[in-house]
Amino acid sequence: MKLNQFAIIGLGRFGSSLGRELSQLGYEVLGIDHDEEKVNEMSSVLTHAVAADGTEEEVLRSIGVRNFDCGIIAIGDDIQASILAAILLKDLGVKKVVAKAVSELHGRVLEKIGVDRVIYPERDMGIRVAHQLVSPNLLDY
Ligand code: ATP
Repeated sequence: MKLNQFAIIGLGRFGSSLGRELSQLGYEVLGIDHDEEKVNEMSSVLTHAVAADGTEEEVLRSIGVRNFDCGIIAIGDDIQASILAAILLKDLGVKKVVAKAVSELHGRVLEKIGVDRVIYPERDMGIRVAHQLVSPNLLDY
């Protein structure tokens, strides 16, 4: 299934970089963060940027998050918020839910909730860089 519309909860380094890239590639991106400063920084980059708590069901409903093809939870440090947002996106019927995990256990919980893809940015980047270092001709791994 081709994904066209993305909702990102959490506009930290990971969420904002992902959102910026998806926007530049021409996709519709909604960003949600409870930090107004982060939202202001991204408002000219993303299709929509909303200052709100991504763990509040009513907020996610009113934004119409269920109409997005893909929901990405880019909250790491606050594991409780990450888990709550993941359950809400699944229950609201978002077709594909992706979440960043900060530890193996955090990732296991997200998988149990039914998150479709769990990402470990630091771990995955370490693996990628290792392969690039030993195979310089490999442009992308
Ligand atoms: P990164 O490495 O991506 O910068 P981080 O680990 O430094 O992330 P996190 O604590 O994971 O920072 O938070 C990422 C973003 O998620 C922050 O901008 C934070 O304001 C936002 N965030 C955290 N909890 C919520 C929430 N409940 N609702 C909306 N946004 C949230």
